[in-house]
Amino acid sequence: MKEPYPKILTGAYPLGPYPMEKLRQVNEPTTAIVGPIERFDEREHGFNRAARGDYGSRAQHRSSRGYPVSGAVASNYAGLAAMGERAHAAIEETMPPYPLPEDPGILTRHVKSLGYFMGADVVGTCRIPRYTIYSHDSAGNPVENDHPNAVTIVVDQGYATMDASSGDDWISSAQSHRAYTTSAFIAFAVAAYIRKLGYAARVHYSEDYQLVLPPLLLLAGVGEIARNGIVLNPFLGLRFKAAVVSTDMPLEADKPVDFGLQDFCRKCKKCAVECPVQAISYDDEMSVYNGYQRYPFSAERCTRFRLTNPHGSFCGRCIKVCPWNKPAGWTHDLVRWMIQHAPVLNGFFVRTDDLFGYDKANRDRQWWFDPSE
Ligand code: SF4
Ligand code: SF4
Repeated sequence: MKEPYPKILTGAYPLGPYPMEKLRQVNEPTTAIVGPIERFDEREHGFNRAARGDYGSRAQHRSSRGYPVSGAVASNYAGLAAMGERAHAAIEETMPPYPLPEDPGILTRHVKSLGYFMGADVVGTCRIPRYTIYSHDSAGNPVENDHPNAVTIVVDQGYATMDASSGDDWISSAQSHRAYTTSAFIAFAVAAYIRKLGYAARVHYSEDYQLVLPPLLLLAGVGEIARNGIVLNPFLGLRFKAAVVSTDMPLEADKPVDFGLQDFCRKCKKCAVECPVQAISYDDEMSVYNGYQRYPFSAERCTRFRLTNPHGSFCGRCIKVCPWNKPAGWTHDLVRWMIQHAPVLNGFFVRTDDLFGYDKANRDRQWWFDPSE
């Protein structure tokens, strides 16, 4: 393809299903980095600590995959692992099949478009700071990754099923596995394509990370960090999972975004109220955690409950009740706009959300069977 490039590649048209380009872009993330950030050891992740027995025998031995719907969805991880091995082996077979544009902006929109073509809900790009590379993997091996750029691939867990769910019932782990496997599936295609263009690429997904994903999602403008410590997107809420492709392809980095979440989370606290094990802070002020200024969060309480939940499989109650967990539509688009432009109304929006009962499970839409029935 020669210049002039089509409008879709020059930025004149939006790329994905959500108007991400309309969000206010900022130079620094809204979560302040106030000190040095230590590289994280993957062995200290909640699920790895649980697997070692740190959270007790039940958390150590109970698998979300014992629930049949989750087990079926998670069975796709085996195929993804095989894809990963084949993709790594195929690095030598690559060759640039056509002249590539010199403008990184064109190339970036081209690669993002492939992610959207494959079904991603949001695709972003950013540089990879060294602090986002794990110091060690879950087996204790030192981790290194010298790729400068990341492509973040975000997939919705599905509004209809979340609407039917309480957030901490049996379908919860299947919702997670759905978005983890789908985002990985898309990432493998994107990485394979990048390699066919002659660049290195590696997929980071829930079964095989070298990179810590939340700070990359923050830097790539996917969303802001919420009260419960994870990234919230204004169109999907907290209801998504992600995979990342790291690469040496020259890509243009997106900017972080500011859609007013920090003020909203300070007033809302709904996730803190509804968390079954009170893992989320009610504090008005943030504190410093590994260089980030954020609300305190008990990863141990959360992980322990997700693995031992007596009435379900995993938990995403905070995701379900969050006022940003809404379907697409003009009324909710209007509220999103108001939050950005009239934050004085944020308290009113939180109370209105309670009145409409969005935090309740709409059982008329429940399509899955519960073991306890
Ligand atoms: S996932 Fe469940 S246990 Fe963990 S913070 Fe959210 S509501 Fe609490
Ligand atoms: S429930 Fe409220 S406080 Fe919690 S993440 Fe959502 S907006 Fe923020």
